[in-house]
Amino acid sequence: MKILVVNAGSSSLKYQLFDMDTQDVLAKGLCERIGIDGRYKYSAAGKEEIKGDYPMPTHADAIKLLTKNLTDPEIGVISSMDEIDAVGHRVLTAGDIYSDSVFIDDTVKKVIRDCIPIGPLHNPANLTGIEACAEVIKDVPQVAVFDTGFHMTMPPKAFLYAIPYRYYEEYRLRKYGFHGTSHRYVSGKAIEMLGNPHAKIVTCHLGNGSSCAAVKDGKVIDTSMGLTPLEGLPMGTRSGNLDPAVLGFIGDHEGKSASEIVTMLNKESGVLGVSGVSSDFRDLEAAANEGNERARIALDMFIYSVRKYIGAYAAAMGGIDAVVFTAGIGENNGRIRAAIMEGLEFLGFELDQEKNLKTREQADVSAPGAKAKTLVIPTNEELVIAMDTMNIVLQRA
Ligand code: ADP
Repeated sequence: MKILVVNAGSSSLKYQLFDMDTQDVLAKGLCERIGIDGRYKYSAAGKEEIKGDYPMPTHADAIKLLTKNLTDPEIGVISSMDEIDAVGHRVLTAGDIYSDSVFIDDTVKKVIRDCIPIGPLHNPANLTGIEACAEVIKDVPQVAVFDTGFHMTMPPKAFLYAIPYRYYEEYRLRKYGFHGTSHRYVSGKAIEMLGNPHAKIVTCHLGNGSSCAAVKDGKVIDTSMGLTPLEGLPMGTRSGNLDPAVLGFIGDHEGKSASEIVTMLNKESGVLGVSGVSSDFRDLEAAANEGNERARIALDMFIYSVRKYIGAYAAAMGGIDAVVFTAGIGENNGRIRAAIMEGLEFLGFELDQEKNLKTREQADVSAPGAKAKTLVIPTNEELVIAMDTMNIVLQRA
């Protein structure tokens, strides 16, 4: 069975084609600057990557280009799009309507549309991707996998905000959490590694956007992102948690609207905002090492914040068996992992420092005998989407 996984953004579309018999990625690509001018990258297993400019006024043009590349006699991996059994879409949110992945029909599309107020940037783009596939790859079954889905097991005490209850009743205003597919994948792998389905785990997805989740008995009981991905840890360009009165303060002093301030908190804040250097943690570390004080503080704020979530979630779960690190920073940066875990010996953590600094693959980087484990687990959201898509298509057959 062959499954195409699509992640459509407002001006981009990422995709991977899976052979589900082997779980191998046959080909993958990225279309960018859709609606602007159009740029793309494509690579197939064992073949050289190609990239270039290609006019893509709409997402349907991006799907046409991926069709052309995937079926190309030279660089393609299939002879016709009929070989694709289904398409799985990464969709930001179906609010609290769906937690599990679903076959896409008109009802599901309406739910995704109705949830645009919760995902104003992503849900419209995800819908565009779904429509584009329906237009170009005719009659192919499509499945939606929701980024908020895995977090839907949170109890009200974790997902409600302490504001008048009517906002929840009228607008479903609550914490949803994001990166759910990643937290689900790595917590599942951690449970396998620990051999304990009841393990108490804190998963740390640390990338451009970062979030932590508390997972107990394989279910999320709390997570750091909120109604939108702005809540929680300070990130590349997002502020994370702050006193909500900051909005009023800036509005009063600078005459900015709430939405202008929220844009500033999303795009100009986080480690970029504090350091003035970069949102990329590689640049940030390099600047800190060269003595840039604000870069050092920004890095320390991030590390401190992740450590506080680990402590808070250990308390929330009544114990902790493992911390999992994943995504760009979590998988690749042993120095930041070590800095986060420093001082957490009282919870039973101890690192094998050398192994931790070296590893970039799935590994237990704890010192021998450590009571609580520190795990590095590369995430694979696309594989989860492909698996869910396959299972739903097989169930319907
Ligand atoms: P996203 O998928 O959210 O765009 P990623 O998970 O790719 O983000 O994470 C991007 C972050 O990971 C950047 O801040 C980058 O500095 C960091 N990162 C990526 N690769 C490495 C690496 N090899 N070493 C250190 N940091 C890395």
